[in-house]
Amino acid sequence: MYDVHQIRADFPILGRTVYGKPLVYLDNGATTQKPRCVVESITGEYYNTNANVHRGVHFLSQQATELHEASRETVRKFINARSADEIVFTRGTTESINLLAATFSQSQMEAGDEVIVSVMEHHSNIVPWQLQAMQRSIRLRVIPMDDQGNLLTDEYEKLFSEKTRLVSVAHVSNVLGTVNPVREIIATAHAHGVPVMVDGAQSIPHMPVDVQALDADFYVFSGHKVYGPTGVGVLYGKEEWLDRLPPYQGGGEMIQHVSFEKTTFNELPFKFEAGTPDYIGTTGLAKALDYVSAIGMERIAAYEQELTRYALQRLREIPGMRIFGEAAERGGVISFLVGDIHPFDMGTLLDRLGIAVRTGHHCAQPLMTRLGIEGTVRASFGLYNTREEVDALVAGIERVRKMF
Ligand code: PMP
Repeated sequence: MYDVHQIRADFPILGRTVYGKPLVYLDNGATTQKPRCVVESITGEYYNTNANVHRGVHFLSQQATELHEASRETVRKFINARSADEIVFTRGTTESINLLAATFSQSQMEAGDEVIVSVMEHHSNIVPWQLQAMQRSIRLRVIPMDDQGNLLTDEYEKLFSEKTRLVSVAHVSNVLGTVNPVREIIATAHAHGVPVMVDGAQSIPHMPVDVQALDADFYVFSGHKVYGPTGVGVLYGKEEWLDRLPPYQGGGEMIQHVSFEKTTFNELPFKFEAGTPDYIGTTGLAKALDYVSAIGMERIAAYEQELTRYALQRLREIPGMRIFGEAAERGGVISFLVGDIHPFDMGTLLDRLGIAVRTGHHCAQPLMTRLGIEGTVRASFGLYNTREEVDALVAGIERVRKMF
């Protein structure tokens, strides 16, 4: 049994009110709330185990290092990486992609080379490549989609050329909810000898992910979207790939030996982790992953799928409802517009009812252009949302609709 009310009790913030109304938090695509165990891990480590990691001989430093490295192992297990050396801690998805874009294009790309992305990417999987493109005149090729929000795999195949160096796609769209067939996308790329980076920001919190089964070359995600702390994230990379990439930032931790004449770099994963890491954050992230693992990612996925089915069915009953993203394989992210009500008005009025949704372009302006709209209202579910909250959303939308 999936006891959502017991789960909710682990998240103190869900008990609060806004404007005197019970909070209905449906902005999990932007960030998730934190269970007590994560918050307590952060305060506990500051109170009891705080010391800088890796270089200390003293007791506290060694204990902090053990926690930090145990967290790396927790992440390894969570995504089934082969080795903990393949887990690089970053500040989040955005930094992971910037790291990869900079080091990959610097070492693996020449002028005229191409990266394939999709039309539904978040800006953080577009702009880092464009920054590199400005310096190295590399090109972005874009996988199109159909009106339901499915990537066109035939068109994808046609984008490959002898210039293709990397494919970089979202596992789950943060706007449409589409679960992209990344396994097939990766197999196709590998058949062309091209590696693949998967943006897992919207998949890691919602489904089991096995990077070896996917055969992903790189996989990135943020801690804060999977019930962990802000400011910490992950870049997974196959060892053979990470070995080939140069360091990203310079500083402490990432070196083996420094002289003014010549500096040598540390081994994996430290080569990519310049400076003091967010070792408190990594412990918090590991706690969050332990938390969702204890519930079970399969069970979370099944529960959220059922909730999403219910929400889609209820929302479709609303006159004037337009839902963006009708892919057969979809997660709990629902973008919509109602009649000609501006998304900002809808979001603001829902907020007054205690319902937190997101409005706007969701950092996916090229996708908005493809859809021919400026923005949407987006409700996105987490493991603690309920049918009653979906009902509150539907009632709220109906109320707003009648006002217009
Ligand atoms: N990619 C996707 C698909 C996302 O949804 C987000 C967050 N909205 C990001 C990347 C960026 O994540 P972060 O801001 O945590 O770096």
